Amino acid sequence: MNKQLHQLGLAEIAQGLEAKRFSSEELTRHLLARIDAHRELGAFLHVDPEHALAQARASDARRAQGAARGALDGVPLAHKDIFVTTAFPSTAASKMLVGEQGGYRSPFDATVVAQLEAAGTVAVGKTNCDEFAMGGSNENSAFGPARNPWDATRIPGGSSGGSAVAVAARLLPVTTGTDTGGSVRQPAALTGVTGIKPTYGRCSRYGMIAFASSLDQAGVFAHSASDALTLIDAMAGFDTRDATSAEQVRDAGGAAVANQAGQIGRDVAAHAARAADAARPLAGLRVGLPKEFFGEGVAPDVAATVRSALVELERLGATLVDVSLPRTELSIPVYYIIAPAEASSNLSRFDGVRYGHRAAQYTDLLDMYRKSRSEGFGPEVKRRIMIGTYVLSHGYYDAYYLQAQKLRRMIADDFQQCFAQCDVIAGPVSPTVARPIGSQTDPVAEYLADIFTLPASLAGLPGMSVPAGFGEAGLPVGLQLIGNYWQEGRLLHTAQAFQAATDFHLRAPEGF
Ligand code: GLN
Repeated sequence: MNKQLHQLGLAEIAQGLEAKRFSSEELTRHLLARIDAHRELGAFLHVDPEHALAQARASDARRAQGAARGALDGVPLAHKDIFVTTAFPSTAASKMLVGEQGGYRSPFDATVVAQLEAAGTVAVGKTNCDEFAMGGSNENSAFGPARNPWDATRIPGGSSGGSAVAVAARLLPVTTGTDTGGSVRQPAALTGVTGIKPTYGRCSRYGMIAFASSLDQAGVFAHSASDALTLIDAMAGFDTRDATSAEQVRDAGGAAVANQAGQIGRDVAAHAARAADAARPLAGLRVGLPKEFFGEGVAPDVAATVRSALVELERLGATLVDVSLPRTELSIPVYYIIAPAEASSNLSRFDGVRYGHRAAQYTDLLDMYRKSRSEGFGPEVKRRIMIGTYVLSHGYYDAYYLQAQKLRRMIADDFQQCFAQCDVIAGPVSPTVARPIGSQTDPVAEYLADIFTLPASLAGLPGMSVPAGFGEAGLPVGLQLIGNYWQEGRLLHTAQAFQAATDFHLRAPEGF
């Protein structure tokens, strides 16, 4: 079977480049042509072919001299437009950051972007997303929605919708994203690709335009768990410029080790080495099923698909155990107090003075702030700023914000109770398959759909979405795997075993 360049996974790309079957420049040109041919998907906010081709040629030159930097050298990718970049404008999909020069130009690169550049990747541009990463559909982008390649009338999920679409439509092998309350896992599920959000503190947040700082984490989209591992492992590591980045993590054996690139790969290898029986690679793995994740809130097609994935995990040797996360429902009000509270503070810097759009006409300073922010922010961002300002205001702080913080702690404790009984937690990512674009006008109903991704975010735990099959109208369904702190290696090993036995992750939408 002769695969086309856009169908190759990262290992095949690395082999092809090494064997000189194709160059990074050829691969990059091929993918740039596909990106151009599929503009209708709205996956990108900015594409810079010249920059990409220059980086590709530099990679080819390194390789010709025997100085290739490893598995990612010459690999084309794109970054969610939440990461600031020196090479491209950064907009957070907001009019607020689009000035006369076509977008804010950062004087520095986000740490994650810099680390991937140092690994030799070829950045083609920036992907579409919900404005300031607020949303779960990509409909909140100031530049129009991204579209699901499985059905272009449907949402791809969000907020990292463009990054998910680029991978699902085989426009790029991998992309970066961010996940505050599900923004990597949910679009990965709805577009049928593999996505991982690591433990809070694993990747640096430096240069990620802040939404809710206590929740924001970088993540990745890929065609397989193995590819996701390669990318996330190059992004991870302690960074002195992010005070919440972890200096130490726990390895697969539970020992404290330095948080650095490459550690997750070593952990996956340790888990694989322990699997003695090749036919049952997950023997000994206890998979916890929170009863709250399997209730009536889940659409029947999603529930059935997730159940069949669990049967597959059992066949691979895993044991299923019943657990409970009793405060699952409360994670919605808790998140929608804490995240807007932090957002209202973080977004105060977009005032037309320090950052962002400035109104053309105003009477005084206050009027300038008011007009600039009214013109620059979209409706969902304004809603969050108002909610956040309200819950932090004098007289309401104790009733809302403080109460939410207490519950957040209890939600995290509930997970620890579960992890006393199991090694990974499994369930759905999204209660339904992708809905039609424009079909949801009630913001609260939209918030409720985050129910299965918010708990792990509030606890700071790593989570993944693994393609698990197809539901209604042939649309993809994701299996969510949640691990304990620093257990990304266990999640990825589990997903690798599942993907070695299934081919859901290899199926592309028709025409792609
Ligand atoms: N859908 C959630 C929200 O709207 C999560 C967004 C995210 O993870 N960035 O806040």
